[in-house]
Amino acid sequence: MAYNCVVLIKQVPDTKAITGQAMNADGTVNRGALPAVFNPEDLNALELALTIKDEFGGRVTVITMGPPAAATILRESLFRGADDAILITDARCAASDTLATSYILSCAVKKLDCDIVLCGRQAIDGDTAQVGPQLAEKLGITQITYVEQLTELEGKSITVRRNIGNGFQQIRTKLPVLLTVTGDANDPRVAAAKKMMKYKNAQTSIEVEQKIKLENANADESDIGKLVEHKCSELEEKGLLITHWDLDFLEADLNWCGRDGSPTKVHRIWSVVLAAKESKEVEPNDKAISEMIHELIEDKTIS
Ligand code: FAD
Repeated sequence: MAYNCVVLIKQVPDTKAITGQAMNADGTVNRGALPAVFNPEDLNALELALTIKDEFGGRVTVITMGPPAAATILRESLFRGADDAILITDARCAASDTLATSYILSCAVKKLDCDIVLCGRQAIDGDTAQVGPQLAEKLGITQITYVEQLTELEGKSITVRRNIGNGFQQIRTKLPVLLTVTGDANDPRVAAAKKMMKYKNAQTSIEVEQKIKLENANADESDIGKLVEHKCSELEEKGLLITHWDLDFLEADLNWCGRDGSPTKVHRIWSVVLAAKESKEVEPNDKAISEMIHELIEDKTIS
């Protein structure tokens, strides 16, 4: 039996590359100062979906909700073996908290025929791990979080191993199911050279429009429109047009999207700067390391 998998992926600022410019004066994230990357655990979710496709057949569709630049991780997914890529971008998505994000994503997943929905366990920027479970609730399907291994997939039944911190659980359930996948689940494959050659020019209609506007600065709107339409149908014929969905296409209730659909209110933001003033060398022996650990426990750095 073949399985259709949908993988939710997020483009995030690379938190390993944080510098003094990472925050704006008003406490918001200065996204321009941080390189954007594929959320690491979403690569594990994609890898699990690709493994299922390799073994059983079916299609892997990746979806991201984000700004037009998030198309980069959709292309990366195509390079690794995804079959279809969808960008949800719409100004009315701005200021969405996790509840609104998962609602919008649920509208998108409902448009697809899918057996297994896969998310990363957690995004490294928002860091809540809420979107996967909220999405399963909204889709009305079973969720299994912290998945570290697919044990068995047979007919409409799936068995996975989930990490519970001090051990693991084996869980069997019926499809459809939503899995949130941990970083220990697998080693994500690298991009395939042939697929890179095939998809390097894959674009969304928004990217096409941005490029055409840059190249034809003096053209009027209707000429731009014709050029965009022509380029998009050319890309579509070659299988290189990345799908773009907006909230109208998703038939989303706007009361559940963006600021209106976000009950989370941010009252205050602290910018915490950890400035190391001194350093201490520790001998590489058990006694010195044990003393250092006790010291860190005493000053409550670790518990
Ligand atoms: P987690 O719940 O940790 O993510 C778990 C998994 O869910 C991911 O690994 C991935 O598989 C999936 N996932 C999460 N987000 C997405 C996504 N966007 N697309 C596809 N899959 C996804 N963020 C903005 O970018 N712009 C804003 O204007 C904005 N305004 C906000 C306003 C408020 C009041 C709040 C509280 C948050 C706002 N955010 C905004 C942050 C945004 O809500 C979260 O980044 C988003 O809901 C995901 O939460 P998370 O990062 O904790 O993901």
